[in-house]
Amino acid sequence: MNEGENMRKEENKREGNRDKFEKKKPEREENNADPDSQFVASLAEYLGLPEEKLDHLFEKKYLARNRGEHEDLLRFDKEVSHIERGTVVYEKDGAFEMVPGFPKIRRAMVLYPTLKEQFSQTRTLAVEEKMNGYNVRVAKIKGEVLAITRSGYICPYTTERAKVKLNLKFFDDHPELVLYGEMVGPDNPYVPKAIYEIESLEFFIFDVREKTTGKPLSVARRRELLENYGFLQVRLFGEFPLETAPEEIKKIILNLGKIEHEGVVIKDPEMHLPPVKYTSSQSNCSDLRHAFLFYYETGRDYMLSRIVREGFQTVEWEENEEAFEKRCMQLGESILVPLREAIWEVKEKRRLFDEVRIRVSDPETARRFEEYLKRLGVDAVFEEPQPVGDEFLIEIKKMNKSTHDKTEAIWKGELW
Ligand code: ATP
Ligand code: MG
Repeated sequence: MNEGENMRKEENKREGNRDKFEKKKPEREENNADPDSQFVASLAEYLGLPEEKLDHLFEKKYLARNRGEHEDLLRFDKEVSHIERGTVVYEKDGAFEMVPGFPKIRRAMVLYPTLKEQFSQTRTLAVEEKMNGYNVRVAKIKGEVLAITRSGYICPYTTERAKVKLNLKFFDDHPELVLYGEMVGPDNPYVPKAIYEIESLEFFIFDVREKTTGKPLSVARRRELLENYGFLQVRLFGEFPLETAPEEIKKIILNLGKIEHEGVVIKDPEMHLPPVKYTSSQSNCSDLRHAFLFYYETGRDYMLSRIVREGFQTVEWEENEEAFEKRCMQLGESILVPLREAIWEVKEKRRLFDEVRIRVSDPETARRFEEYLKRLGVDAVFEEPQPVGDEFLIEIKKMNKSTHDKTEAIWKGELW
């Protein structure tokens, strides 16, 4: 198998699997020690929540301390009134500080009339590329630059990469700001992608917000600021009048689809209104190819919504029979090809697993990352580090036990 095919095969196996590591119940991550009542009272005041509510959140572990390396940081495991899931809060110099979670982005199923409805209060729309990797926040927390995952964990691998990749002077100049971006590329333990001509892993920034308030910078201000520090940013396709935006975005999406890129995020240039996302058919299908390979661990909503999107897109774009048939083939293949593979593998008595890799400058980072995954309850096998230049590559096998066991049971005659 040549390099290209190999990569494509890898690619198909892994896509659309964001946050799977974090979906498991992370019971062992949290510290069970009860917080003292003085602490609860002052935190409740800072968050603007009643004390009883906070007690309840601690009890249910919806608000919990990280375990292991950052016990002083609390994370929200659930959205609570105005606070996003994944928000991190901590004491600093006798007060509190908060790194807000990244707000959920709603999806447009059709461009018209959705954009007109959702953005009625603005005249133009900024259209940026939606890159496919994993969501990361980077901020200086109590003197240390840390990378936080969508769910609010401090990932040792991502933190090492952020420190290597970013101009850290930014955080001295702007200690009150948080960088929000996508970690993209093949050396990626969560969502590896070989479609971006990135050698290893890069951080593309799409948002800059204030700590605590979560207030975003406008698109123009953000892009200018990031430019000054030489940071990578997601591509800006332009700012379009609201009326012509659906046509313009359709063209952009068709072109992005041809190169297997994911789609766009459509934003109010002032960032007063919440953004909206829209994706290419190719990206829906590649998500499905991964989803059906591990059909028993993938959420049903995840699969269903990607199939329904195909229906809306073909009707909105008034596709002819030929284009429609092509879409049918692509959709069907993205479901059945991986299913056949998964079922066949188990029938042949082979284990189902997902292969990813990381690249570290210090092998100690890989060891800490392994510990971290263990604490999150992830079943992963780490291979020996292989030197590449002055860094190390480590292959990781994530075992997909639940799909494997279900498939095996069916082969033994069990009912669905
Ligand atoms: P959500 O953010 O809606 O919870 P999700 O986790 O299912 O969704 P996606 O469908 O991948 O994620 O879409 C949203 C994600 O897209 C964001 O969380 C962010 O990580 C990523 N993203 C990539 N490019 C951009 C961009 N230009 N602007 C905003 N977000 C972007
Ligand atoms: Mg994504």
